[in-house]
Amino acid sequence: PANSRVTVVGSGNWGSVAAKLIASNTLKLDSFHDEVRMWVFEEILPSGEKLSQVINRTNENVKYLPGIKLGTNVVADPDLENAVRDASMLVFVTPHQFVEGICKRLVGKIRKDTEAISLIKGMEVKREGPCMISSLISEQLGISCCVLMGANIANEIAVEKFSEATVGYRKDKETADKWVQLFNTSYFMVSAVQDVEGVELCGTLKNVVAIAAGFVDGLEMGNNTKAAIMRIGLREMKTFSKLLFPSVKDSTFFESCGVADLITTCLGGRNRRCAEAFARNGGKRSFDELEAEMLQGQKLQGVSTAKEVYEVLRHRGWLELFPLFSTVHEICVGRLPPTAIVEYSEHTPKFS
Ligand code: NAD
Ligand code: 13P
Repeated sequence: PANSRVTVVGSGNWGSVAAKLIASNTLKLDSFHDEVRMWVFEEILPSGEKLSQVINRTNENVKYLPGIKLGTNVVADPDLENAVRDASMLVFVTPHQFVEGICKRLVGKIRKDTEAISLIKGMEVKREGPCMISSLISEQLGISCCVLMGANIANEIAVEKFSEATVGYRKDKETADKWVQLFNTSYFMVSAVQDVEGVELCGTLKNVVAIAAGFVDGLEMGNNTKAAIMRIGLREMKTFSKLLFPSVKDSTFFESCGVADLITTCLGGRNRRCAEAFARNGGKRSFDELEAEMLQGQKLQGVSTAKEVYEVLRHRGWLELFPLFSTVHEICVGRLPPTAIVEYSEHTPKFS
């Protein structure tokens, strides 16, 4: 339909940057309504003011993206139902642990013709097995859901440094092209590939490898070791993805969502940073404690993803096939010391 209304569901670090990118395009393109609504999980700031009100007054997300103007056509709304009203395009971008609860609240509240996209890196593990976040959105709300992943450290995109991203779609190329149009800017180059599972698994699994890379940094093991961890991690990402979804394409790992996101996250991400601190402290301070202290409300995805991946591996009898993924989880929960990150190489499995 002409003049699609876009709502961003989420307003953390990446959510705020996504709203900024989108809002710059809706102003320029006739096919989108200018105003972009952004759902804010409300909180009271130390000043006593509500975050959503401060965002609307200053045009900045002072807590999760300070110093960046979002665009005056971004409207923060703490009321989820109101934020999605009349929207035909929903952009999901919250930490993955909150999506299920949000979707439950959205059932019956959205238009039937709504299209969704998920920028969320993570998965849920249910009794029936693993469930990707885009499938969760799709199944709970009865709408189709693309994904957008890539080498996208939010703070760098916020100041308009050049980067790339990958849209993954299932069948509908026309909808994928519309998402590309909505996100693409001169400094954010987006392309679409027909491999929704591959794109989403890349974005999800690289966070586990980033934790491993952080351990290596904390142990001061140097660049060769870190590169080795990234290579082994990439190989596990590919094997795991293809075991879960045989349709996943090799070429996806060479897109921005694959090797590029792996590299940027292992160099400059939050998962890496907290894992470095964890290893420096010899595993004596928990990730929950480090996350709260170092990220001030922002959330890690890699530690919970490592646990979720571990559950899948254990349940399917694949633990031996994935020494890096399983060791990351064992270190995170304190069953192994951080030094174990390089102590499995002698029984590295042969992959096809
Ligand atoms: P974030 O890490 O800044 O998380 C904080 C957000 O979570 C805040 O908006 C907060 O209000 C919200 N929140 C806290 N408790 C909540 C609750 N109970 N219910 C709902 N919301 C709650 O978030 P982000 O950086 O926008 O990340 C969202 C997703 O995007 C993640 O999956 C992340 O991996 C992915 N991502 C992040 C980046 C990045 O550089 N930040 C880049 C690419 C992808
Ligand atoms: P972190 O969550 O580790 O900061 O990674 C951000 C990201 O996904 C970059 O693409």
